[in-house]
Amino acid sequence: MDVVPLLARMGIMVSELSGDLAVRSPIDGAGLGRVRSMDNAELASAVARAHAAFLSWRLVPPPRRGELIRLFAEELRGHKNDLGRLVTVETGKILQEGLGEVQEMIDICDFAVGLSRQLHGLTMASERPNHRIMETWLPLGVVGIVTAFNFPVAVWAWNAVLALVCGDAVVWKPSEKTPLSALAVKSLLARAAERLGGTPSSLLEVVIGGHKTAEALADHPQVPLVSATGSCAMGKALAPRIAARLGRALLELGGNNAAIVTPSADPELTLRAVLFSAIGTAGQRCTTLRRLIVHNSIRDSLVERLKQAMGNAAIGDPLAPGTLVGPLIDGSAFVAMQAALAQAEADGGIRFGGERVDVKNWRDAWYVRPALVLMPDQTAIVRQETFAPILYVMGYDDLDHAIAMNNEVPQGLAASIFTNDLREAERFLSASGSDCGITNINIGPSGAEIGGAFGGEKETGGGREAGSDSWKAYMRRATNTINYGHDLPLAQGIIFATGP
Ligand code: NAD
Repeated sequence: MDVVPLLARMGIMVSELSGDLAVRSPIDGAGLGRVRSMDNAELASAVARAHAAFLSWRLVPPPRRGELIRLFAEELRGHKNDLGRLVTVETGKILQEGLGEVQEMIDICDFAVGLSRQLHGLTMASERPNHRIMETWLPLGVVGIVTAFNFPVAVWAWNAVLALVCGDAVVWKPSEKTPLSALAVKSLLARAAERLGGTPSSLLEVVIGGHKTAEALADHPQVPLVSATGSCAMGKALAPRIAARLGRALLELGGNNAAIVTPSADPELTLRAVLFSAIGTAGQRCTTLRRLIVHNSIRDSLVERLKQAMGNAAIGDPLAPGTLVGPLIDGSAFVAMQAALAQAEADGGIRFGGERVDVKNWRDAWYVRPALVLMPDQTAIVRQETFAPILYVMGYDDLDHAIAMNNEVPQGLAASIFTNDLREAERFLSASGSDCGITNINIGPSGAEIGGAFGGEKETGGGREAGSDSWKAYMRRATNTINYGHDLPLAQGIIFATGP
């Protein structure tokens, strides 16, 4: 797969594609080029440069910072095809989803431009005469961003364009599996900065590397916030390091998302939603539907239709039109999938699909048929996130039991209910319903828009990114009390007589 012309159009030259880290495409397993990973001293220099950029960027009026993001969105619009294709080549997601990922970047940029005039605080009533209390939101510093392979650019954008509008600088450690997309994004942002007439250099530093690089970013005292996206294991490794220096962590970790299908659900809509959520991105989304909890009265008919639809889904080259399921990211994802399926069968599960599929004789690529597994119960393997297209199906008779199953996993990212019964829908959204950060009605758990805050509870890490008021994570809040009178009344009526 020749990505050189694509990269060149986005400003990356072949001479830059050398170094110790080989980049492969999951589409055919072939090499795409090489990049150089950084050692900890280089990371420290990158943070120092970003900090210097922050010191002047924080003084730039926010709407002017928004103008940088508006220009960046123009670059993204102009290179949507190139970047979308590169995302597909590096991750293996189908081209429609690669393009969708770039569109998501554009959407969050548009949001951030508006936000650049809306970084507002509250004004509170003071108990003291001639006093006013207000809060001011101020830039935070260098924001460290660690990203996962499966959303190599959109998740960065959720964080970074808000952080930049908020007056911060960014140091980004992309997944070692998708560094080229990161370099392309850096180059497009640099073009936007040039069109703006310049910004402090090093507003965005990209540090290529593996776990050690992420750890060094987590440990760095000049990085007040680390936003890390990836597995729960990664969160458990990084969070204590950030906490040890009392830094802030924004964690977006694994999900194990369920959908409850009730007797009143619209069968056609449910089938389409379940398919997209379960097999889209070859089951490699944090919000992928992994557990289907179906009312026993409709379980057999839904399972029959799902078996057929999943069996017929076009598996193949994600760049080819009509493909619905691309490859797994690598061989270890395949091994993890097979191990999970074997365990599910040992637990009494009945499995359909899940086998390796040959595509164009690409021996170093890992294509699979999505698996449907009928489980007698929600066993331990079902409660784990296996990052592959496995949909476990469990039956239920009583909605309380279905909701309990939805909630009885360690992760708390996304959940759905399919119902036309208002009481069931409202119950699922209520305090005694789903315990997830994202809870949907008659839509699958995946495929969120940027307008809402994105993130989950429990082992998903509690972070919120993208829309709503997520921007507040990238700023520091100062509470200001202003006395415009001539006296000095004290709060709580305290008398502190100092005069004669
Ligand atoms: P991963 O955890 O293997 O890697 C993610 C990032 O963390 C990479 O940059 C990697 O280098 C780094 N990393 C991994 N383990 C580390 C460790 N022990 N110490 C330091 N750094 C470490 O995840 P992945 O395979 O790239 O992506 C899939 C995972 O990410 C899934 O669990 C998925 O649910 C999750 N994810 C979550 C969200 C979300 O918003 N909640 C979004 C995308 C992906």
